Amino acid sequence: MPPSPPDAAPDTTSDLEEVLTEVSDRSRHLADEGEVEDQPEELPSAESTRFALALAELDGTEHVTGDADVGFAIQSVVKVFGLTAALRLVGEDLFDRVGREPSGDSFNSLIQLEHEKGVPRNPFINAGALAVCDVLLDAADDPFDAVAGLLGDLVGTELTVNETALDSEREGSAANRAMGYLMSSFGNLHHPVDDVVELYVRLCSLTVTTRTLARAARFLANEGVDPRTGTPVLSEPLARRVNALMLTCGTYDAAGQFAYDLGFPCKSGVAGAVMGDVPGRFGVCAWSPPLDEKGNSRAGRAALHLLSERLDLSLL
Ligand code: GLN
Repeated sequence: MPPSPPDAAPDTTSDLEEVLTEVSDRSRHLADEGEVEDQPEELPSAESTRFALALAELDGTEHVTGDADVGFAIQSVVKVFGLTAALRLVGEDLFDRVGREPSGDSFNSLIQLEHEKGVPRNPFINAGALAVCDVLLDAADDPFDAVAGLLGDLVGTELTVNETALDSEREGSAANRAMGYLMSSFGNLHHPVDDVVELYVRLCSLTVTTRTLARAARFLANEGVDPRTGTPVLSEPLARRVNALMLTCGTYDAAGQFAYDLGFPCKSGVAGAVMGDVPGRFGVCAWSPPLDEKGNSRAGRAALHLLSERLDLSLL
């Protein structure tokens, strides 16, 4: 059974709204020093002044500030839902194909992959996501729907692919292809590289919002059960493990600093979203496109850091 939301939540709705507004006001200007990812300028994630913060409680109450309902491509945050879909299909056998260690390298690095014989360090770097996509191509009847359908169920609406983002992802996927070929050469990719990369870039191009990502993260805060529908998504031990991987590997080579500053599991993406969850309490997402040198949203990271301090969210 999923845990019920805490009887006496420490924060009233109006307190939470006040905190979200204060945190947004204090952090959004930090975007000024970051760079947006190179991408088509018609995408909202190319607009450096966009900012949103959303918090989704287990009882369904949502609190948002800023551009929380503006759509953007999910990018690497989809790796959480890819991992979840693969764990649902093959369980922990998945970890024969991909590791569980932080990489300490950038998300699209090829260096470790050669040293470690084509087995990516973890499912949240690009190479790891390709291994997950390869497993989905084997194990799922409809590999795209195994992830997009799962995410759509969590959010409560059908999701669409942003074709502009998809074209740009396809064009920019030379490094992902290189990883795919290297993994194939070590026997750790069973499907044609083009098929694996195509599945990966389509998933990265799903349109989400800050609000819907906060909502989608809630099953991880709720022992693996979607609080919207009561449907078990993952067993409780597997949900914990996804949280453990997010905490240790979810923000690339800044994961240590995120764990230190925020103290709860997060996953970031190059469109500027950082999605997290605080077990037993809520899903959360911050969005601001300008990134720091490690590829994480500058203002999004600052906002979640402040939120963690104001609401005492660190689990550690
Ligand atoms: N589209 C990106 C890529 O694979 C996703 C990476 C990310 O969000 N960090 O290169």
